Amino acid sequence: MEKRYFKILVAIILLAAIAAAYIPSFFRAKENLVPALHSSLPPPTFVSGGAVEARFWESLDNNRVKCTLCTHYCIIAPRRRGICRVRENRDGRLYSLVYGQLASTTIAPIEKDGMKHALPGTRVLALATAGCNFRCMQCHNWHITQRRPEEVRARRLSASQVVDYALQQGARTITGSINEPTIFYEFLYDVAVLARQQGLRMQFHTNGAIAEMPLRALLNRIDQAVVDLKGFCNQAYQTYFGGNLYTVLQSLQIIKEEGAWLEITNLIIPTVNDCLRQIRAMSEWIAENLGPNVPLAFTRFHPSYRLTHLPATPIRTLEAAHRIAREAGLNFVTIGNVPGHRYNSTFCPHTGKRLIHRVHFNVVYNRIENGRSPFSGRPVPGIWE
Ligand code: SF4
Repeated sequence: MEKRYFKILVAIILLAAIAAAYIPSFFRAKENLVPALHSSLPPPTFVSGGAVEARFWESLDNNRVKCTLCTHYCIIAPRRRGICRVRENRDGRLYSLVYGQLASTTIAPIEKDGMKHALPGTRVLALATAGCNFRCMQCHNWHITQRRPEEVRARRLSASQVVDYALQQGARTITGSINEPTIFYEFLYDVAVLARQQGLRMQFHTNGAIAEMPLRALLNRIDQAVVDLKGFCNQAYQTYFGGNLYTVLQSLQIIKEEGAWLEITNLIIPTVNDCLRQIRAMSEWIAENLGPNVPLAFTRFHPSYRLTHLPATPIRTLEAAHRIAREAGLNFVTIGNVPGHRYNSTFCPHTGKRLIHRVHFNVVYNRIENGRSPFSGRPVPGIWE
């Protein structure tokens, strides 16, 4: 056979092999991402009112209040709101303006909410309201997070309607996500109480900027948390995200201490938090303070919101971060937002064999049996049943 025909034949065989590997997962991904039926929910609209008194605040002089829910500890004058835009001082008392006012009620694979070791491949109902206590310059959801409740269409739902909806849609977990769930604390808490009564799991996807007392109270009601650790430099935290690194580290330790299942995501943004020295320090801190079995996902940044001038994260940076975190002793490190990347999957840390094969948010297969790796026979930390 002529050399050139031979090359064409090899190329065809390779393409056929790739298609055979990915086409089934593509269809499964489509299946998982089928939009949920919203027929049982009222249509979103501009809603107002429905304020409920907040749970964590203190009275100050001149009718001012101090909010003690998140680590900003806003001091709020009468008729004013805190940094999150959703907590208001009315006549010397603090109110939440977003109780049950949901800007998002999204059904998705749990992997989309950053959770990899708790019921992989199942559905989650993600709740969000207007507002946020951070000012992330790369935020994909700025149209709801950086808005007041009056500026965002929302559904007014009770906690029991949310739980019924999750059950109807086949979700196994409810999560507060998309914006910072701390700022709709009272509603999340009430949903958590009912969700657990109905056998659903409760998740908290947070930036970690929540004060200790409300965090510990919430951890009595939730099962698992995903924390976005936005780097390991406090100056970058303040400049690009409007937060404080040290309060986030404290929250991570509290979550671990209280026994909730914990996973961490780190979005690597070029020139903002892509210093490999800091990634090493962060990985070592996690291994030392939270243990080697806390899953860590490095995710790829794509230009958005106020950082459209920056490039997407180079794949080699994500791979270098992955190598560094493994060297630091972390057992379960993945790479996200790079569909089809080998390290989107979870590997047995003892044998190097693939335990959970993922393509983006889709689980192609899960080899974990009775909570153990079939290759090494050792337990794989997580919630598998
Ligand atoms: S939740 Fe945080 S940002 Fe909002 S008012 Fe309270 S302290 Fe301020």
